[in-house]
Amino acid sequence: MRLSHYLFFTSKQVPAEAELISHQLMLRAGLIKQVASGLYSFLPLGYRILDKVVSIVREEMDKAGAQQLLLPFVQPADLWKKSGRWDEYGEELLRFQDRKGSWFVLSPTHEELITDLAAEILTSYKKLPVTVYQIQIKFRDEIRPRGGVIRAREFLMKDAYSFCEDEEQMKDIYERMRSAYERVFSRCGLDCKVVEAESGPIGGDISHEFIALSPAGEDKVVECNSCGYSAKLERATSIPSQQVDKEDEKQLEEIETPGVKSIESLSSFLALPMRKLLKTIIYQTEKGYVGVVLRGDYDINEEKLKKLLKAKEIHLASEEEVREELGMEVGFVGPVEANNKLLFVVDETVMQGKNFVAGANKKDTHFVNVNPGRDFSPYLVGDIRFVSEGDKCPLCGSLLQVKRGLEVGHLFNLGYRYSSKLGASFLDKMGNKRPILMGCYGIGVSRIPAAIVEQNHDDEGIIWPMEVAPFKAVIIPTSNETFNFSQQLYLKLRDVSEEILWDDRDISAGVKFKDSDLIGIPLKIIVGNTFLKEGKIEIKKRKDGQLIKVSKEKIVGKLMELMQYG
Ligand code: ATP
Ligand code: MG
Repeated sequence: MRLSHYLFFTSKQVPAEAELISHQLMLRAGLIKQVASGLYSFLPLGYRILDKVVSIVREEMDKAGAQQLLLPFVQPADLWKKSGRWDEYGEELLRFQDRKGSWFVLSPTHEELITDLAAEILTSYKKLPVTVYQIQIKFRDEIRPRGGVIRAREFLMKDAYSFCEDEEQMKDIYERMRSAYERVFSRCGLDCKVVEAESGPIGGDISHEFIALSPAGEDKVVECNSCGYSAKLERATSIPSQQVDKEDEKQLEEIETPGVKSIESLSSFLALPMRKLLKTIIYQTEKGYVGVVLRGDYDINEEKLKKLLKAKEIHLASEEEVREELGMEVGFVGPVEANNKLLFVVDETVMQGKNFVAGANKKDTHFVNVNPGRDFSPYLVGDIRFVSEGDKCPLCGSLLQVKRGLEVGHLFNLGYRYSSKLGASFLDKMGNKRPILMGCYGIGVSRIPAAIVEQNHDDEGIIWPMEVAPFKAVIIPTSNETFNFSQQLYLKLRDVSEEILWDDRDISAGVKFKDSDLIGIPLKIIVGNTFLKEGKIEIKKRKDGQLIKVSKEKIVGKLMELMQYG
């Protein structure tokens, strides 16, 4: 491809709206262009990258035995009402009416449609198991689009769905998908962690996420470098930093703490570490109010709390509710002498400590030397906290690390959630009607290029891994004297590969080098002084700056080798 004829541009300016490095570089390299908030065009260079990611995903899905199909982007609302998600999905689901007044949605995901299809076709065990997939646009009206294509409103996803007779088939497909994902991400040059995850609004019990580690990510992953334990922060467990207090239980005392309401101000007021203070937070649940007691140095994990309580809905009680319905003093709430008002759910780390400070349910007053068991009785004890820096691995006891990352893929065992609601059942060998066991498997295809940039860049720009680079090499003539030869070389190479650009623009060599580095082309084929003096062409690697000199005769072979193996 001749660069002078290519729809492309680069920019030195760091775009003001772009916070993340991948967003900045993708805009500056002219790979994407914003149309409106969360809506992006992929320009030719960017599209070539996306298309390569698509090919990798397709190849690995096909190898894993999944069959590609294409479902419509616009879906009738009826199916969403049937599955219950018309009400549950919230504002991310964009709904609209057609000219006849019927309701439709722009697909944020396709469980409903595919289950409806399965209900019609997969009626016998003889047809199971089956896995299908599509690579298609999704729309989610994200409240905070972020990082360009990282969290867009319209984006490209690979979504696969499996239909099985039983858990054994399911397990086999789940594992096959998991290995396919490992290959996809490694071919894309991504450093990924597989972690246990919560399944969120899609539902189901077993779920894993693939997280590309990057400080730009919104997801947090807990990791043990010694034994390999890793999990999403929401789900991770730990051995607390300071486990058991060895001191004796002291006598309970009331102290005055005028105006000291927050846990931070209490810690400085009493000159005590946060872990010696108790936080009491009041939640409202369908079972009534509960008081949640945690050490001051931990944060409450509401998902764990919900599970422990076996509650469907929980939310923080308002100050008014605490004051008026429970008669407790906001800012000074505590579990001592309050068992008559509330049930207390207590984090396990509290039970291992002694002589805490806690609110005394009176204005400007706290208790010191509060001892769990002696001074208050828990209704439930469990792990209801987020892992925090300094905690230890639940499996091997080594120090845990909390890292950030971007979710690039997700595997779910959906169970019977959709098949039971949408009537997808089959006749088993015995002639009994049973619901189909389903799984679903997503990859954020258009998020991947940005995740790759997050992990592969330097001060000059992007460093594309060979397999996903928009072009693998660019021929750069550095002066008029070498232009003609560079053209001959281009014409010769064009016959053997479509992966080579020719920078025939009438601009300085310096700008050509800079643009090539910004865009991230893996190999520069430099036809310059060395060619004039020694008759040799230079190949420079973007990744490590390595320079290789090759003769005219050997250039094709050497280039083919480098383009294949890097
Ligand atoms: P998140 O927690 O980031 O919102 P999700 O759990 O909603 O993700 P899934 O429904 O599992 O995402 O979608 C499958 C994949 O699609 C995700 O792993 C992610 O890579 C990608 N994805 C999800 N939302 C977006 C978005 N708004 N823009 C780009 N990619 C997305
Ligand atoms: Mg989401």
